[in-house]
Amino acid sequence: MSYFSDLGLAEPILRALETKGYSDPTPIQRQSIPALLEGRDLLGIAQTGTGKTAAFSLPSLHRLAANPKARKPASCRMLVLSPTRELAAQIADNMREYAKYLSLSVQVIFGGLPVNKQARALVGGCDVLVATPGRLLDLIEQRALTLRDVEIFVLDEADQMMDLGFIVPLKRVANMLPKDRQSLFFSATMPKAIADLGKQFISNPVRVEVTPQATTVERVDQFVTHINQAEKQALLTIKLRDGLADKSIDRALVFTRTKHGADRVVRHLTTAGVNAAAIHGNKSQAQRTAALGAFRKGTTTVLVATDIAARGIDVSGVSHVFNFEMPNVPEQYVHRIGRTARAGADGVSISFVAPDEKPYLRDIERLTDIKLMPMSLPDNFQNEAARLPAPSRKPAEAEQDARRDERDRKGRFGGGRSDGGRGGNGGRGGNSGGGRRPEGVGRDIPRDARREGERRELRGDRAPARSDGDRGEPRVARVAGVGAHAGEVRPAGDSRKRNFGGHNGGQNGDNRSSAPRGDNRGGAPRSDGNRSPSNGGPSKFRSAPTGNRDRGQRIV
Ligand code: AMP
Repeated sequence: MSYFSDLGLAEPILRALETKGYSDPTPIQRQSIPALLEGRDLLGIAQTGTGKTAAFSLPSLHRLAANPKARKPASCRMLVLSPTRELAAQIADNMREYAKYLSLSVQVIFGGLPVNKQARALVGGCDVLVATPGRLLDLIEQRALTLRDVEIFVLDEADQMMDLGFIVPLKRVANMLPKDRQSLFFSATMPKAIADLGKQFISNPVRVEVTPQATTVERVDQFVTHINQAEKQALLTIKLRDGLADKSIDRALVFTRTKHGADRVVRHLTTAGVNAAAIHGNKSQAQRTAALGAFRKGTTTVLVATDIAARGIDVSGVSHVFNFEMPNVPEQYVHRIGRTARAGADGVSISFVAPDEKPYLRDIERLTDIKLMPMSLPDNFQNEAARLPAPSRKPAEAEQDARRDERDRKGRFGGGRSDGGRGGNGGRGGNSGGGRRPEGVGRDIPRDARREGERRELRGDRAPARSDGDRGEPRVARVAGVGAHAGEVRPAGDSRKRNFGGHNGGQNGDNRSSAPRGDNRGGAPRSDGNRSPSNGGPSKFRSAPTGNRDRGQRIV
């Protein structure tokens, strides 16, 4: 079966897909849709970029439409839980498009927007509700919503839910759902703690696993510049200013580790005339939506983000990813650079590595089995840097920045590398170590989850799901992106690790020299040693039959 029309979906849904220009289902869609149409529960190991939103939306909309019911006040028939506001909004947007020719209503609720307005929108009930857990529980507590009519329940990005401390609210939600329902549980990784959580929601599920967008990492030219922390800002400003001016950079995503770090980078870039915006958990919802919208439209060409704020967000046309600070969990690197090289395009990533970040670089190179290509500093860097304008700062702000830097450094490097050499902070993708609250933890997190997180902080613990026991097995890093959804399947117990699978075939032992495409992207030879060839063009979603994965293998 290789067309949507073969999958048994209703005509209005096929028409909506046609409008969107989709003809072939992605592997996860091919594998999930028939079972979901039958009403089976599903355990999906897949990340954003694989087409999983359509995988759960299309059959669910089909089933809701096939069994029409009058809407009940303050009620919904399908509930989709998402960890972040942006992802919730994105899912709701997609579902509205898929439901375009059906008379089904889709509502979305998340924190950061007035709760009363959302409560009013729910008065008449809706067919599909997409929500973040905190706001969902707030509305239930206010009696603006009941879950008693939920027929289909989707828990998306379960691992990130756990990282954000949503475990208690999720259990509360689970207790409110009717027993007789269809449940879908998605996670990018499936360590034991997540699998155990899944058991509370799903029964006798079909298991679908989509391997990484193996080719994405392959198609990103990955560079590293060794530089002192203090010089990173100047380097970033010069690179972006010059790259945007000579059009070698179209659109760039810059990753910082902290929220205030992101703001500071934006301040510097803006002062130097580079149009940049930040997206992170301290921004208001309106600011986050505006920043993302402008970046999607191309009116802002540089988006500076923290990991959690950026996760799951689907933005095409990102030519460059800059790691202003290195992630302390190597899989996060794969997540980050997967933001470029989407939709069949190639991409470039440039990592700025300070001396104390070298261990992170080593972990990343070990995980990906790719040696990052050295990129030297631009000609005349010191003089250029000295000429850059400094953003005006009040002395108090300067002091505050200095204090935060110090706290960051202690948080990041002070705790020791207690997790088997994977960086000191634990929580994948979060800044949760060293007693700092994970980025993204804000008003969406309900009180009890916050308390849980705070207790952990006080104890200096890492997030609960991230025990070292979950990390013992070789990890398979995955990146999934539109247009090249991978389909390489690794059988259970496959001992290959850190193998991202080449899509061009025959790249084993390839020592391609760099400066690909004759541009100014850098320098040193690239060692592509030992990547497995696979076939299928970069713009195709390739097939990925289900395979059991060893416990603890991590999939990014
Ligand atoms: P998701 O993993 O759901 O975030 O989807 C990633 C991207 O793939 C989104 O931009 C979708 O609109 C797009 N997409 C999903 N299914 C298909 C398909 N069958 N063909 C082409 N693009 C798709």
